[in-house]
Amino acid sequence: MTKCPRCGKDVSSRPGTICPRCGLKVSEVNQKTRCPEPSCRALISKKLEYCPKCGCKLKNYNFSDFIKMARCKIDETLNEKE
Ligand SMILES: [Zn+2]
Ligand SMILES: [Zn+2]
Repeated sequence: MTKCPRCGKDVSSRPGTICPRCGLKVSEVNQKTRCPEPSCRALISKKLEYCPKCGCKLKNYNFSDFIKMARCKIDETLNEKE
């Protein structure tokens, strides 16, 4: 069981559940994703555009951007060691 984020009613946490009181698609709202920022990795709602923890952009985020970002981080780490 989980709570409807809009009206607070107890609803099933199964995928596709719609709140019987207010009709909100609870499972969609509750879907979480990991922040793509390697040093952050906060668990955040898929509805958000930006990570509330580190502020990086989440929507339209694609894998090549992630690789670029990860490479930058690795370069920074390597440079610090020298
Ligand atoms: Zn509801
Ligand atoms: Zn983040």
